[in-house]
Amino acid sequence: MLRALTRPLPFRVASSSSPLHLRLRAMATANTPDYNKPLYTPLAELDPEVKNIIDKETWRQFTGLELIASENLTSLAAMEANGSILTNKYSEGLPGARYYGGNEHIDELEVLCRKRALAAFNLDPAKWGVNVQPYSGSTANFAALTALIQPQDRLMGLGLPDGGHLTHGYYTAKKKMTASSIYFQSLPYALDPQTQLIDYAGVAAQAKIFKPRLIICGASAYPRDWDYAALRKTADAEGAWLMADIAHTSGLIAAQTLASPFAHCDVVTTTTHKTLRGPRAGLIFFRTDLPSAADLAKRVNDAVFPACQGGPHNNTIAAVATALLQVAQPSWRAYAQQVVSNAQTLASALAKHGYKLQTGGTDNHLVLWDLRPIGLTGSKVEKVCDLMGITINKNAVSGDASAQVPGGIRLGTSAITSRNMRDADVEVVADLLHRAVQLALLLQKEAGSKLLKDFVRAATVPQEGRVGAAQVRALRGEVRAFAVRWPLPGVDVAGLTKPEGIHDD
Ligand SMILES: *Cc1c(COP(=O)(O)O)cnc(C)c1O
Repeated sequence: MLRALTRPLPFRVASSSSPLHLRLRAMATANTPDYNKPLYTPLAELDPEVKNIIDKETWRQFTGLELIASENLTSLAAMEANGSILTNKYSEGLPGARYYGGNEHIDELEVLCRKRALAAFNLDPAKWGVNVQPYSGSTANFAALTALIQPQDRLMGLGLPDGGHLTHGYYTAKKKMTASSIYFQSLPYALDPQTQLIDYAGVAAQAKIFKPRLIICGASAYPRDWDYAALRKTADAEGAWLMADIAHTSGLIAAQTLASPFAHCDVVTTTTHKTLRGPRAGLIFFRTDLPSAADLAKRVNDAVFPACQGGPHNNTIAAVATALLQVAQPSWRAYAQQVVSNAQTLASALAKHGYKLQTGGTDNHLVLWDLRPIGLTGSKVEKVCDLMGITINKNAVSGDASAQVPGGIRLGTSAITSRNMRDADVEVVADLLHRAVQLALLLQKEAGSKLLKDFVRAATVPQEGRVGAAQVRALRGEVRAFAVRWPLPGVDVAGLTKPEGIHDD
């Protein structure tokens, strides 16, 4: 072995000024068997098809406006860590107690990530623990349910049409839609139809009858902050666990821009890729200072592995750690405040045009726009915006008659804030959205029916005597011209050229 190491290298080392991928490429030698040669070939050469898809997606992100409230733009460092060699390692178990050898560095990484996760939320390591292995928010939630309650136990969560998440017990009349309603008995709570705020008195009244073992708070489409203390009172009255799923707002909570659930909840779950701006993953925080929860740490850790998952994604855990390092910097607070300020600017700019917003505005990063008063559906506006290069999603709004026809759209400012946009720029975005919606009204007329397929035809196929499709194209040009003025994290946009297969003009 030693001899092998001291032998002259069997290949010529490229000069250090040549690009990294060429230097790595040179590692394949005449002695490399054919079956191992692909291991050294850069993606562009090995698989131009996948490379082209990545290039097209990069172009889409660069030339468009990302307003999906659950998305954000992660950092160069997080992408480097996520694309690292750590993906090779199996490490089932926890630091110091693995089922595989060779984990000394992985242990160091996971311990560091846990430390940073607690620090990011200002948590005392004597009172809180965290599991950093969940692959994503949904798996984190199912592991948390597995840890806290027994199969077929009762749980309550905010209903999906009111802004809750699928994994909080969602079911329909015809179908148990998610594992959280298949393996548990669930009952949704709702918004107060007048104020569109969480109906805390209603939760208490329902819980008194339903006797849940677990109450879940947190949402995917709720523009206001939570009263965690009120829910704690209800949980205590009924002897239920209280869990907060802060997937959407965790970055704002870490910045102390929103109220913290940690003072009131037993377990807190989150994704790491929404306002937290890391890679796609999940975290589960659990209290370790409760007499009734002496074994909570063990229950959560066992629920993640082996109950719900296998080997941790160590490349992702490295990226989570590096994202959490960023969250702990003083500048994080300024980012979070700008996200909220941008959302509030967006809300007030839309309100000035007379549009109706759920709850009239926002406390966080998202705005729920009720389109019903102007006679549009969320699907149509989503479609027009997509054609213009503005990415948003249709969303149910309080009081929707049918879940199949959402009456609104959801907008978020996390990603555009990560592209450096501030309030004055958000005014420009709001104006583009206003024009998109006005155009959607025109297209609806030109479509000649209320069907989505006629609407899409009116938006995409130019027709004699109709102006809608041309206006969509014009707006697409405006959005592109505006979007390319902004950087895109992780991408050298100065060197970016339009990839093959993009049919922009
Ligand atoms: C996004 C989200 C999740 C799910 O996260 P995934 O990473 O998509 O599995 C869970 N809960 C809430 C409240 C969310 O918004």
